[in-house]
Parts: sequence; structure tokens; C-alpha cells
Amino acid sequence: MKKITRRNFIGQSLLGGVGLGLGLSLLPSQESEASTTQKSEYTLTRHIPIEEGYDLLVAGGGPSGLAAALSAARLGGKVLLVEGTGCLGGMATSGLVSAFPRIGDGKDLMAGGILWELIEKMRERGYLGPGMVPEKYAKPPYCWIPFNAEGYKLLLDDLVKEAGIEVRFFTKLIDVEASASEGKVAGAILHNDEGYRFVRAKAYIDCTGDATLAHLAGVECREAGRDTPNIMPASLFQYVCNIDFKRIKGGSGYLKQAVEDGFFTQPEYSLTGLYKAGKSFGALNAGHVFNLDALRNKNLSEGMMWGRKVAREFFEFYKKYVPGYENAEQIATSALMGVRESRRIVGEYELCYEDLRTLRVFPDQIGVFRYHIDIHPYKADPNVHNTTRSKTLKKFLDGEHFGVPYSILVPKGWDNLWVAGRSVSSDILANGSIRVQPVCIMMGEAAGAAAMQAIRTGTTARTLDTKQLVTTLRKQGAYLPQPVLNKEMTRH
Ligand SMILES: Cc1cc2nc3c(=O)[nH]c(=O)nc-3n(C[C@H](O)[C@H](O)[C@H](O)COP(=O)(O)OP(=O)(O)OC[C@H]3O[C@@H](n4cnc5c(N)ncnc54)[C@H](O)[C@@H]3O)c2cc1C
Repeated sequence: MKKITRRNFIGQSLLGGVGLGLGLSLLPSQESEASTTQKSEYTLTRHIPIEEGYDLLVAGGGPSGLAAALSAARLGGKVLLVEGTGCLGGMATSGLVSAFPRIGDGKDLMAGGILWELIEKMRERGYLGPGMVPEKYAKPPYCWIPFNAEGYKLLLDDLVKEAGIEVRFFTKLIDVEASASEGKVAGAILHNDEGYRFVRAKAYIDCTGDATLAHLAGVECREAGRDTPNIMPASLFQYVCNIDFKRIKGGSGYLKQAVEDGFFTQPEYSLTGLYKAGKSFGALNAGHVFNLDALRNKNLSEGMMWGRKVAREFFEFYKKYVPGYENAEQIATSALMGVRESRRIVGEYELCYEDLRTLRVFPDQIGVFRYHIDIHPYKADPNVHNTTRSKTLKKFLDGEHFGVPYSILVPKGWDNLWVAGRSVSSDILANGSIRVQPVCIMMGEAAGAAAMQAIRTGTTARTLDTKQLVTTLRKQGAYLPQPVLNKEMTRH
């Protein structure tokens, strides 16, 4: 194994060549309120083993990352998938967000490819929620598709093994070597208990949810709370068992009563809901963590502790006020914070609210979907909640859906880097719709196929023939009904 030595790298272009100098400077964060001892810079020097020979490095194994890795590996790529936790699935498993929204548009099924395969394989193995049969979720009026997060983890383990993907759990991507002027990533620094590794691949896909790889590479990004005035609140999911589902009747009336009784430390006026993931247990999405800046560790750490308190209080509320929950028990809160908004890249195209409102069809669309624009209240105030929602909600009629173009996966000016999932190039309103898991899976599948196509044809993310990409995705089962295809991607 080759090794590289880390020295100061700030301000240098380090593309190409083995034995480069790389450095890791520990600088006090400017916004940090951390200890006053962090005043000066400290430079470390280390020898880091280099690993080469990969076609693709995928950072993050959530809905977009697992689809990206599967798609590329099935097209023959040598893929390394790195995931910070100990399982795949991201928010679906570590975040306990175990339900897909409706996958039909009222006339047609929008799910194909890997998304459809995941649903069907979960059904075959008995991992979907009770009563989940294709007649219910694949035909009008369609229902939400809850599933058991533990079963989903097992399925994903099997799929990545079958596809020959090298998976590294408990491994974080912590730095990137790249040239923004050339639009190229040269390699990524990974870290786990064995130390640092410098990994080179031909292509890179950022599926971290926070655009971490892209940001570290120097891609232009927008950050909630800094580039926008507000941050949508986060939520910590929880699994609750011993629920008597037959006796449940709504919850908002009970919530109003509890708020009037002074039950909550942080009064809230909205209930998002419960997914029936098993016969007597469900995934509960209740309560918000307001002003959580997921990109600042101090904030995120404090938010997790606060989130657990909020989740417990909501659990106690259900037990006390809502029929059917009297004997309920809390199984677990999620290990990952449910972040709705953090960082979004600036891509070759930015999907915007107008595109959704006008049901825009893109020649290079890699998926179609419809989901309401889900903007949560920025503070615990009923008026803020209602105003925001009523202004932005788009109601879809039967048969209506919008297109998700390839070019929102491509960071502006970059050649061997794609971003898929929540942090793609989109305005806040459009992002409020496309961040759901089915769309993230479609985006991941497309990014994986695009990366392999670029490698094989000697093209780049920006010069990719999108007609060929759409044809590949259709062959993989994707529902892409656009009548006209173009070689060029959609740009502004
Ligand atoms: C409260 C809440 C409720 C939601 N409800 C629903 C719902 O009901 N249905 C639905 O379909 N969608 C829902 N969503 C949206 C959806 O869950 C997410 O937007 C979606 O999971 C995003 O997918 P992703 O692949 O971009 O990232 P994620 O699911 O966030 O996965 C990212 C993965 O990358 C890993 N990672 C991050 N950084 C690194 C790093 N540096 N190195 C290595 N690994 C890293 C993480 O551990 C994680 O596993 C909800 C979201 C929230 C927050």
C-alpha cells in the first residue's frame, strides 16, 4: 500500500501524483463558542495509506447512497461505499423514518428501478407494514408504505453483498482533495478506528445529506440559516410499541387540549403522524427541534439531547391523551437527527417551485414524482405554521407529476462529482417536495448510472449524453415518460 504524508495543504492544488503533501489543520471554528484555549492553529503531520483502483466512491449509505452504489456496481463498477453509522438506509433505518410516501400519481406508478425492487423485496420478506399489498400501494388511490427498519437493514446488507460493493461502516469522509478551478476531485480522506485512508476513485458521489463531500471539495453551496434567513426545524423519530391501532382516532384535538393544559415544555400545534410499521408498533414523528444547525456539531449535539426530551414528552402525551396508546411503550429514539434542511449545492440547474407548479417535463429527467411541499413551522407558533403552509402548498390532481432533471445532481462546473439526495440543487420549496426517500433513491440510481457512463465513454458529469442515461435508466425499469430526449442536460 502506498502512503502519503500530510503536511499543510491549504491553498495548494494537489491533483495528480502519489506522495503528495496533505495536511490537517485544526482551526478553531469562527462561530464556535467552544473553549477559549482553541486560539491558535495546530498542524499535524501523518503518513496516510493510499488506496486506489476504485471506479466510484459513494459517501453516505442513505436512500440516495445505497441506490447510487447498487446502480453503479450492477453496471460493472468497482464501488466503495462509506457510511458513518453501522447500517445502510440513512434516515430510513438509523433515523427510523420507515415509510415511503405514495408512489403513484393517480393514474400511473411513478416507482420503477431500484425503488420498486426495494418495495417488492421488503414485501416478499414480510418487512412491510401490516396489510401492505401491491393492490394498496401500487394502485389508485395508493397508500403510504410503512416498513420495519430492522428488516430493511437486512435486505440492504444482502443487496450490497450480492452486487459486490465494498462497504465500510463506521467510516466517515472527513476531507477531500480537489481543484475547484479544474472541477475535479482527486481523492478523499476517510477515517475510522484504523486511522486515516486516502482513497482515489475515478468518480465520486456525495450522498451525505449535508453535501459534505461537495462542500469540502469547494463546490458552491447554500446553507440554511446563513444563506437563507431560517432553518426548518428537525425532528427525532421514535419507535413505539403496544399500540392498540383499532382504537386510534386522530390526534390534533388531543394536542390542543394538552397545550391548553400546559402539558408541554415547548408547546406545539402540529402533529405529523405515526406510521404503522408492525402489528402493534409504529414510527412516531412528533415534535420539533427548532433552530437546529446540523452543520455545527455543538448545535447538533445539544439538539440530539433536546430532541430526546421532546420525543419523550410527545410519547407521554400520546399515552395520557390519545385512546389506543394507554399501554404503549417507547422502544427507541433515532440515532440520527431528522434534519430537513442543512446544505444544498448550486448545480448546473436548480429545480424551483415554478417547475413543480407547472409540472415541468425535462428531456433529461431521471425521475418523476409528486409530493406536497412540506415546509415545517420555523418556530412553535400556530400562525407561522399556517401561513407558511397555506402559501406554499401545491395540490396535485390525478395524473399530475413533475420531472426531476439530471442536471440538479451535477455541481456547477464539476466533472467527476455528483450529488444525490436531500442536498441536490433545488430551491427551498422544491426541496420540500423532492427530499422524500423515493426521489432520493431515483436520484441515487441515476447518479450511479451516470458515473459509470462517464467513466466508460470518457465524458464528464457535465458533458454526459443524457439521452443515453435516460435509456439506461428505462432499461433498469425507471418510469420516465418524457416524449423527447436530448443529448444535453437542462441548464439555466
Ligand atoms: C423528520 C423527517 C421526516 C421525514 N419523513 C419522511 C417520510 O415519511 N418518508 C420519506 O420518504 N421521507 C421522509 N423524510 C425525508 C427523507 O427521510 C430524507 O430527506 C432522506 O432520507 C434523505 O436521503 P439522503 O440519502 O439524502 O440522506 P440520509 O438519509 O440523511 O442519509 C445520509 C447517510 O450518510 C451518512 N453520512 C453523512 N455524512 C457522512 C460522512 N461524512 N461520511 C460517511 N457517511 C456519512 C449518514 O450516516 C447517513 O446514513 C423525512 C425527513 C425528516 C427529517
